[in-house]
Amino acid sequence: MTGMIPDTHIHTPLCKHARGLPAEYAATARARGLPEICITDHAPAPDGYDAGCRMAPGQLAAYREWVAAAAAAAGGLPVRCGIEADYYAGCEAWLPAWLEAQAFDLVIGSVHFLDAWGFDNPANLPVWERVDVVRTWERYFGRVARLADLGCFDVLGHMDLPKKFGHRLDPARARELAAPALDRLAAAGMAVEINTGGLRKPVGEMYPEESLLVMARERGIPVCFGSDAHAPTEVGLGFDRAVALALHAGYTEYVRFEGRRRRSVPLPDPAAVAAAIGGGAARPA
Ligand code: ZN
Ligand code: FE
Ligand code: FE
Ligand code: ZN
Repeated sequence: MTGMIPDTHIHTPLCKHARGLPAEYAATARARGLPEICITDHAPAPDGYDAGCRMAPGQLAAYREWVAAAAAAAGGLPVRCGIEADYYAGCEAWLPAWLEAQAFDLVIGSVHFLDAWGFDNPANLPVWERVDVVRTWERYFGRVARLADLGCFDVLGHMDLPKKFGHRLDPARARELAAPALDRLAAAGMAVEINTGGLRKPVGEMYPEESLLVMARERGIPVCFGSDAHAPTEVGLGFDRAVALALHAGYTEYVRFEGRRRRSVPLPDPAAVAAAIGGGAARPA
């Protein structure tokens, strides 16, 4: 077994802002020695929520077929079928029952919207100029707490996403605002991901920052890893740094998912991960 870890956050063109079929993401994963991947595209929403950034409800069957085809052609690499589902006001009406019926391997729960504001969409960046940044983070973590309470997700996606464009809080304030949400994630039995997508964004660092990850570890919240790949070359990118971050935050194990059940695996040596993904060549630009 290589010292490599699975990538459990990967998109497809069905969300309208990614490119590459699941089979192409799987090919990168094989080339980089990943032991498994889970495709987790943006979930369809029957109420029209954020329709421009997700598959239509009628495309779910095609999604499953793409993932199944990738798995069949992956030469033994497990290619699992998950979903990234948004928490938003109103999702309670359909999302828990829908997820229950889907038999996914993994459900990532994410907050991308505060009311009508898609705060991580570059097209909506000007809104950040008009809002109170502290209040925005407070609202964000409030949504995360409600996400946890809904009880239908396995992993929280990109825990401190509002920092994407550089709108940070001072660390003490961030910890204070995040603590109640982390308590609820722990109570819900959820995991968090180290998401390397932030390395490719203006903030230039992973989600979450180390102090928040330490708070998760202190609460017994397990960790997993996702590149948030929206292109096949992004699979596994930055995972050497992600493993180093997990170790530095005090984790010794991470979790893998199948059929929405998880099992713990010891963390590998970051140097082995760096070697597997090609060291500097696989670093984000
Ligand atoms: Zn996306
Ligand atoms: Fe997301
Ligand atoms: Fe994503
Ligand atoms: Zn994402």
